[in-house]
Amino acid sequence: MTIQANLQTIGERLHTAEQRFNRPLNSVQLVAVSKFHSVESIQQAYQAGQRAFGENYVQEMVEKAQVLANYPDLEWHFIGPLQSNKTKLVAETAHWVHTIDRLKIAERLNAQKPVSHPVINVCLQINLSGEDSKSGIAFNEVLPLAQQVAQLPHLKLRGLMAIPAPEANFEQQRAVFKPLRECLEYLNTQGFKLDTLSMGMSDDMAAAIAEGATLVRIGTAIFGQRPKPQST
Ligand SMILES: *Cc1c(COP(=O)(O)O)cnc(C)c1O
Repeated sequence: MTIQANLQTIGERLHTAEQRFNRPLNSVQLVAVSKFHSVESIQQAYQAGQRAFGENYVQEMVEKAQVLANYPDLEWHFIGPLQSNKTKLVAETAHWVHTIDRLKIAERLNAQKPVSHPVINVCLQINLSGEDSKSGIAFNEVLPLAQQVAQLPHLKLRGLMAIPAPEANFEQQRAVFKPLRECLEYLNTQGFKLDTLSMGMSDDMAAAIAEGATLVRIGTAIFGQRPKPQST
């Protein structure tokens, strides 16, 4: 299976899920997660029409972005944990940062964004219970952080993101995503105009779309199994 064929298949699965769960057509954006995959793989996906790519490691994203600097419309989504000493490189490269979990990181991105670089779209990362990773904030921390991040002029707060632990079946996957949707709806009753739920990966995409995902992050189903990381 080529990357082009995989993208075609994912696009069809995505549209099927939109229809099945009464979501408007094209209301779910596909981010192709290219971590550990080669620049050539990204180029193949680009040639098949894919424009948004997700990366977890700052150095890897920056190096790929430099090689692909002359590809128009290419959109970099930073989806990994972000330390404050790396924010400058991200502010110079990323169009989206999905993993904001404290004000300091947001403030640094806001201050370090070059004038020539577009406003950075950001999501707050929520730690759903039972989650693998320790990253992300608890639900009761969301409103105050959202209020602070929304004040930063060079960032645009778009919504929420989560990486839940794997669940056994569709219904359990849905149950885990539901509170994230409810949290976004709550924020919008508080005066926010958030439009993004970044949730759903290769194995739980349909459940995420059923619960309102507007952006799914798909790696393996597009690029195949990830090669082992070189040296990080
Ligand atoms: C790796 C990764 C993905 C893609 O996962 P697949 O299971 O390969 O689709 C999505 N989101 C995040 C945050 C990731 O780190």
